[in-house]
Amino acid sequence: MTPLPQDSVQLDSPPARTIEPRFAFFRGRVMPYADAHVGLLTHALNYGTAVFGGLRGYWNEEEAELLVFRPLDHFRRLRESARLLRMELACSEADLWTGLRSLLRAEGLRTDCYVRALAFYGDQSLGVRLHGLTPEVALVAFPFDRYVANEEGAHVCLSSWQRVGDNVLPARGKIAGSYVNSALAKSDAELAGFDEALVLNDHGHVCEGSAENVFVVRGGVAATPPVSEDILEGITRRTVLQLLQEDLGVAVAERPIDRTEVFLADEVFLTGTGAQVTAVTRVDHRSVGEGRMGEITSRLRQRFFQVVRGRDARYRGWCAPAWRDVEGR
Ligand code: PMP
Repeated sequence: MTPLPQDSVQLDSPPARTIEPRFAFFRGRVMPYADAHVGLLTHALNYGTAVFGGLRGYWNEEEAELLVFRPLDHFRRLRESARLLRMELACSEADLWTGLRSLLRAEGLRTDCYVRALAFYGDQSLGVRLHGLTPEVALVAFPFDRYVANEEGAHVCLSSWQRVGDNVLPARGKIAGSYVNSALAKSDAELAGFDEALVLNDHGHVCEGSAENVFVVRGGVAATPPVSEDILEGITRRTVLQLLQEDLGVAVAERPIDRTEVFLADEVFLTGTGAQVTAVTRVDHRSVGEGRMGEITSRLRQRFFQVVRGRDARYRGWCAPAWRDVEGR
């Protein structure tokens, strides 16, 4: 019998890099990554019934400490996203943090890193539904640098893909299945030569990037869409709202943003765990402001990186040390 061809091959772009963690936190304990298996019939793999989170750990050289940014807030959102899928997680935010610390230590991570948190229906059963299923929880961590290569001046397009709406697939939670929508927007943008895509919602308002919230600045005043505009309730968005208002003295309105406001903005930037604070300097081949990173974005980025690396005492509570205690410090 002629063997069937193996996987299909895509020739138009380089293959994505495979990440090779050594360990995973799975089923309540740290285990070798290679042992953390799921089967082909896993519900989440077939139907997208998973929720996830992305966290960053920042290495602080002076303190020889890995500081994880707002882990309890990330785990709260993971649990809330899970509730949208009728998933009751047995572990609390504190349990997840304890699990993450053991994982980070097992991996010996003493560098900037990314953490993927995942809750998914692990049943190997047939049937599209959300009830009567069993959630599983996993954490993986690995060294990580930039998500958007051009953080200082990204070129974005307005995607022809529309953001999923709350009555279609709740965008406020990080639901795995809805990231097909993000992936469509992101690939079309990248393959057309842009760094990122902005997506509009059902009302035609600017909603967010494929994996970032968006802010515009005009006449010294910032604006970002409210949580009722089909955005993900971003933790970096919340961080930046506070830093802009409390620290940099910049007023921010949470209000719908029209497409053409982006063309007239002095500054546009994206926020996200991956993108951190990314300046947008071109939208659809039009310069934003003067076509380079604006003053408010630049001041915000400086403050943001001080804060996430634990160098601003006022916001130190957001930075959770991974190594303290184990080493008798
Ligand atoms: N929107 C989407 C669609 C995202 O995937 C992300 C990344 N998690 C964000 C916004 C930013 O959220 P956060 O700041 O919590 O990472």
